[in-house]
Amino acid sequence: MSLMTLPDVVRCYRTSRALQRYLDGEADERTAGRIDEHLEACRRCGLNAATYRAIKQVLHAGGSDVDELALRRLRSFNRSLAEIVVRPDPA
Ligand SMILES: [Zn+2]
Repeated sequence: MSLMTLPDVVRCYRTSRALQRYLDGEADERTAGRIDEHLEACRRCGLNAATYRAIKQVLHAGGSDVDELALRRLRSFNRSLAEIVVRPDPA
């Protein structure tokens, strides 16, 4: 995290916010392209997307057995990004 520059973090934050719409196929073409690119380059967001996909699969299958650990990890990931963007480290 300390190696990330602020623009990277902003990109991660935007991606995480748009990710759900993107995975639902509701993001516009430009946004989807940007997210595609970012998920290729960013391991953290790639994992985030994989977690969303796994949750969607479980929900789609009609199961209620969503991995609680995955959900918690996802929430803390989004929260940590939000905190960084709101209170950036003075460089
Ligand atoms: Zn990212």
